[in-house]
Amino acid sequence: MGRQPHVLVIPYPAQGHVMPLMKLSMKIAEHGVKVTFVITEFIEAKIMASMPEKAWWSQIIRFVSIPDGLEGEDDRKDAAKTRETMLRVMPGHLKNLIDKVNQSNDGGQIKCVLADTTVGWVLEVAKKMGIPGTAVTPAGPGGVALSLHIPKLIEAGIIDTNGTPMSDELISLSKETPAWKVNELTWSSPSDPKIQKIIFEYVSSAVQTLRNSNWVLCNYFNELDPWACDLVPNMLTIGPLLASNHSGHLAGNFWPEDSTCLSWLDKQPTGSVIYVSFGSLAKLNQQQLHELALGLESLDQPFLWVVRKDLVQVSNADHEFPEGFTERVASRGKVVEWAPQEKVLAHPSVACFLSHCGWNSTIEGLSMGVPFLCWPYFADQFHNRSYICDAWKVGLELIPDNNGIITSHELETKIKTLLIHDAIKANALKLKEMARKSLAPGGSSFQNFQSFIAQIFKY
Ligand code: UDP
Repeated sequence: MGRQPHVLVIPYPAQGHVMPLMKLSMKIAEHGVKVTFVITEFIEAKIMASMPEKAWWSQIIRFVSIPDGLEGEDDRKDAAKTRETMLRVMPGHLKNLIDKVNQSNDGGQIKCVLADTTVGWVLEVAKKMGIPGTAVTPAGPGGVALSLHIPKLIEAGIIDTNGTPMSDELISLSKETPAWKVNELTWSSPSDPKIQKIIFEYVSSAVQTLRNSNWVLCNYFNELDPWACDLVPNMLTIGPLLASNHSGHLAGNFWPEDSTCLSWLDKQPTGSVIYVSFGSLAKLNQQQLHELALGLESLDQPFLWVVRKDLVQVSNADHEFPEGFTERVASRGKVVEWAPQEKVLAHPSVACFLSHCGWNSTIEGLSMGVPFLCWPYFADQFHNRSYICDAWKVGLELIPDNNGIITSHELETKIKTLLIHDAIKANALKLKEMARKSLAPGGSSFQNFQSFIAQIFKY
C-alpha cells in the first residue's frame, strides 16, 4: 500500500455538520489514513471549551483552524453576512493551509479533500490545486436529490429563482421516495424570505459541488431506500456513522455533555423513558415550551429532556418552565443542557425519541431501534419526518393546532399511542438490525467504505 495517504476534511461550521464529518474522519483514520480536520477558529474554541479532558483524539486526527472572517457571536447570527464573509475570506486561508501542509516534510502531501456539500467552494479550491475532491452530505440522499432537481423545478415553474413556491404541486422524485409539499422544502422559510434565499443559495450550490467531486459520501445505508440513492450520481452510502463504533470520547460537541443522565437512566425501568431533544439549532417559543412541559408532566412516565440554554429566548432557565414544574416532576424527570445522545438512545431504559428529526438524530435513532415522535422545524426535517412516519413506519407525527402550537393534549395522546404501538416497535427493531448488517463485513455500507478507502490509497 505504500506511504500513509493524507486527506483533509472540512465540515460546515454547525453542530449537525461537524459531528458526522468527525465520525467519518475517525473511521477514515482507523483505516490507516492521516486526517487533517479543518474547522473555523470560532468553532474550535467552542469544541475545546466543551471537552472534558485533554484531547486524546489529537493522536489520530490533526485539528487545524482557520479564520472565518467574522468578529463576535452576533456577527454569526446574520446569515447573509456569514455566508458572504466566509465565501470571501475562507478560500484564501484554505489554499494557504494546503500549501503549507504540502510544503512541510512531516505530514505527507494532501491526496484528497473531503468537503461538506454546503461548503462547495472547498472543492473549487482543491480542484484548482489539482487535488481530487469528495463531497460529504450531512443530510440524507433525498435532500441531495432535491437540490440537484432545483433547475428542473425552476424550469417547470414550480418554484421561482429564489426558491419560492409558484404552485401547490407535490414534488415527487421517485415512486418510492416520499414527496415534498412545496411549503416543506429544505429551504422553505415563508416567514423570512431573506433566510429562505440564503438557504436556497446553499442548497442550490450542491449542483456545482457535485461537479467537482468524484463521489458523494452519505450517512445512510442503502437498504433504507435504494431508489433515493439512484437519484444522486456517484453516491456512496457509508452509514450509519456512529460514535459508538470508535473507542473513547469523540471530539466535536459544541456544549459539554452531561453524563449524569446515563446513571439516571440506569435507575429507570427498561423501555420507560421518553427522550426529548431538538438538536442544536431549533428553538421553541415560551408558550410552546410550557405546553411541552405540561404534556410531559401529564404522563406517568420518566423523561429525559435536553434543554439547551438557547432553546428559548429567555436567559434565566428557571423561568422557562411552568411554575412548580421542576419540583412536581423531580422524581421522574431529568433535564440536561446537552446529552451524550448516542449513548442515551442506545440505553435500554429509553422507550421513544421525541425529536426534531434532524438527519443525524434520525440516523442515530434508527440505528438504536428507537421509535420516534416527530416534531420537525425546518430544512430537511419535514422530509425526514415523512420517511420516519410514512415510509419506514417507525414513528408518529405530532400535529400542531390552528395556532401552530403542539398542545400538551396532543403530546399526551401521541406518546401514549406510540408506547403501545407494537408494529412501530417491531419496525424500529428491524431497521436497527438492517443498519447493523449494513456495517458488518459484506454489508453495503461496509463494502462502499472499503471501496472509498481503496481509492484513497491509489491517489
Ligand atoms: N446531540 C447531542 N446531544 C444532545 C443533542 C444532540 O450529542 O443533547 C447531537 C446528536 O447526537 C446529533 C447532533 O447533535 O449528532 C444534532 O444533529 P441533527 O442533525 O440531529 O440536528 P441539528 O442540530 O443539525 O438540527
